[in-house]
Amino acid sequence: MEKNTMQAVIKTGPGEEGIVVGEIPVPEAGPGQAVVAVRAVGICGTDVHIAHDEYAHERPVVMGHEVLGTVASVGSAEDADWVGVTVAMETYFRACEVCDLCRAGRRNLCVERRSIGSFRDGGFAEYVLVPVLNLHRLPETPGSSTAC
Ligand SMILES: [Zn+2]
Ligand SMILES: [Zn+2]
Repeated sequence: MEKNTMQAVIKTGPGEEGIVVGEIPVPEAGPGQAVVAVRAVGICGTDVHIAHDEYAHERPVVMGHEVLGTVASVGSAEDADWVGVTVAMETYFRACEVCDLCRAGRRNLCVERRSIGSFRDGGFAEYVLVPVLNLHRLPETPGSSTAC
């Protein structure tokens, strides 16, 4: 990747005053991970609650968890087919993998889950790092590359 740093909206402290636009390192994909170039991101009610410290999060953290983007790089050779693919993604970054919900394939409901935008850096940035397991391939449609 040609760029080493990127702009991001970061929750650094209490309240709305704690939200800043900062310059941080572009993430690098480890094994099983993907770096996604963000093309669009929603502002969720949860983001508003995080802004007002009404939803659990760990600062500093890049906000935003409803992300559409293009896979820019992957950390494992077997995931190479994902590069260039338009994706949406699950919001959780990590789950416990051992509870009944995880083992039933419902990792999104795991009480131990740690999500992007609250406990891991999220999508209010140029790039976001996520597990390849969390990616969902989206169809390319006419005009879909004309991001705002
Ligand atoms: Zn949301
Ligand atoms: Zn679990």
